[in-house]
Amino acid sequence: MNIPRRRFDCLVIGAGGAGLRTALQLAQGEAHVAVVSKVFPTRSHTVAAQGGINAALGNVLPDDWHWHMYDTVKGSDYLGDQDAIEYMCRAAARVIIELEHYGVPFTRLDSGRIYQRPFGGQSQNFGGDQAARTCPAADRTGHAMLHTLYQQNLRAKTYFFDEFFAIDLLMDDQGYAVGALVLELETGEPLVIEARTILLATGGNGRMYRTTSNALINTGDGMAMALRAGIPLQDMEFYQIHPTGIAGLGALISEGVRGEGGYLINGEGERFMERYAPHAKDLASRDVVSRSIVTEVREGRGCGPKKDYVLLKLDHLGTDIIKKRLPGIRELAMRFAHVDPVERPIPVYPTAHYVMGGIPTDRFGRVVVPVAHGPEEAVPGLYAVGECACVSVHGANRLGGNSLLDLVVFGRAAGNHMLGYLEENRYHRLVPEKAIDKAMTHLTRWDRKGDGESVDDVRETLRKTMEDYCGVFRTQEVLDEGIKRVVELDQRLQHATLRDHSKIFNTARIEALELENLMDVSMATVVSAAARKESRGAHSRLDYPKRDDKNWLKHTLFFQDGNVLDYKPVRMKPLTVDPFPPKERVY
Ligand SMILES: Cc1cc2nc3c(=O)[nH]c(=O)nc-3n(C[C@H](O)[C@H](O)[C@H](O)COP(=O)(O)OP(=O)(O)OC[C@H]3O[C@@H](n4cnc5c(N)ncnc54)[C@H](O)[C@@H]3O)c2cc1C
Repeated sequence: MNIPRRRFDCLVIGAGGAGLRTALQLAQGEAHVAVVSKVFPTRSHTVAAQGGINAALGNVLPDDWHWHMYDTVKGSDYLGDQDAIEYMCRAAARVIIELEHYGVPFTRLDSGRIYQRPFGGQSQNFGGDQAARTCPAADRTGHAMLHTLYQQNLRAKTYFFDEFFAIDLLMDDQGYAVGALVLELETGEPLVIEARTILLATGGNGRMYRTTSNALINTGDGMAMALRAGIPLQDMEFYQIHPTGIAGLGALISEGVRGEGGYLINGEGERFMERYAPHAKDLASRDVVSRSIVTEVREGRGCGPKKDYVLLKLDHLGTDIIKKRLPGIRELAMRFAHVDPVERPIPVYPTAHYVMGGIPTDRFGRVVVPVAHGPEEAVPGLYAVGECACVSVHGANRLGGNSLLDLVVFGRAAGNHMLGYLEENRYHRLVPEKAIDKAMTHLTRWDRKGDGESVDDVRETLRKTMEDYCGVFRTQEVLDEGIKRVVELDQRLQHATLRDHSKIFNTARIEALELENLMDVSMATVVSAAARKESRGAHSRLDYPKRDDKNWLKHTLFFQDGNVLDYKPVRMKPLTVDPFPPKERVY
């Protein structure tokens, strides 16, 4: 088949904060860069980020990057790689100032400096008093960041393929990443994009769960593309369930609400977080708060007629603060929970939010894979940044405000490294026809229409299955059953068909491709979770309630071929400072 081709120096797949920050670095470095996005760039999920981005600026309370590093290592339940964490926390102030110079309209103090709000898991002086480290643009930080980065990319002449869906990576026989097969959504026509270096920045996979804060587009496409290219996924058992989604719906109510002084109450009107985290209370880290809410509800202390949620109270903050600092939250609560938080508390319950795992990379954004009997090696030409990647700075649990930071710190670092790679690899490598054929087979499988089981049914069952069998609290029995069910659903998907409505056919085909991707990352998640016999961060096993550093202080690697696992050590050695050795994690 004669498929049209385009050629660039660099191909960036994904136009969220990670893709756009990297693309900007590349375009400013005079590289010819294309960005592919399945939605218009400013509709990427980064646009929905509310609370803010972390940096130890010390504008409101004293702060230090080293304290930020300590909090991140502790928040990660000691599974984060300390070299990458040091790198990120040290770079934070600089990248925030850079963002400000690009034009991000941060909220300001009267002095003109950037305002900073307290967020969960932040402390002064290595575990002392609460810190205030999160820089917001009201409660629409991601919106401000994404629009700014998009504008800067337009100025730098980045080329955009808007509403193109990436199907698969194209690799050559020597294992170099040489391009991608993409599909134009409007026409349904395939296109091969050739590039000397490629970045995956496709974001998270929150649609794996039924109740989620994530947008419809967050289906783990890049992670599944990596799996199909033979690359493992790291630490997939660690999925963050955010404590405060709107009950029954999942839409996110930012941690910024608790940062500004809001707190949780149960059906008895009790401020229950005081019992679970006497020191940090409502600003304990997210895994801790989510487990506490689920426990309150399970033990019959929930609110409402079914006692199945708790309340987030913020009316005591006063109308002015709410209107000025949390306008988006107020709007969300009024529209979706039908309460005005100025007067009444918001009903909340944990919601699937963020994947700590992903495509394994080093701190330059290079995708790294294990090789037999040797240290890991970079996949030549291939990079990954953002929620789809695992560098790993979030370990077993991410702190609020650290994801936006991860995007810009490692986006910038990857961009710089890719520019160096271009210097050393001056020519395009040939894209093998058989790689294109293989990717095309993946696409044309979905040419089948008919009245077999519908793709939609399989999707909804998968999401419910993941929620029921791979949620906040886990046991061996439940996880093993989860694996069985996902394997069954995968079989069903092989035989599912698209409905024969020619007008919506292309959309239906994309949804089927997305479901395949979700299926692949769900499998990685539940298989990795069933294997890890300890409780750490977001992975909480009722049958193994303790963290087990002796046996499990290591990263998981899931390979699609045979659904097998391997492990690799956590990098405990920071770049310049002393390591933080594991200790008991209390808030
Ligand atoms: C509601 C909400 C609030 C949040 N608030 C905060 C916060 O306050 N602070 C914080 O630090 N973090 C926050 N987070 C987390 C953070 O926003 C995300 O982790 C981060 O924005 C992800 O950025 P990204 O660039 O990796 O991916 P995304 O922004 O999700 O972008 C992914 C991109 O990939 C493209 N793409 C995906 N698949 C394909 C494909 N197959 N073909 C072509 N293109 C594709 C999409 O079109 C999109 O452009 C929040 C998350 C949510 C959901």
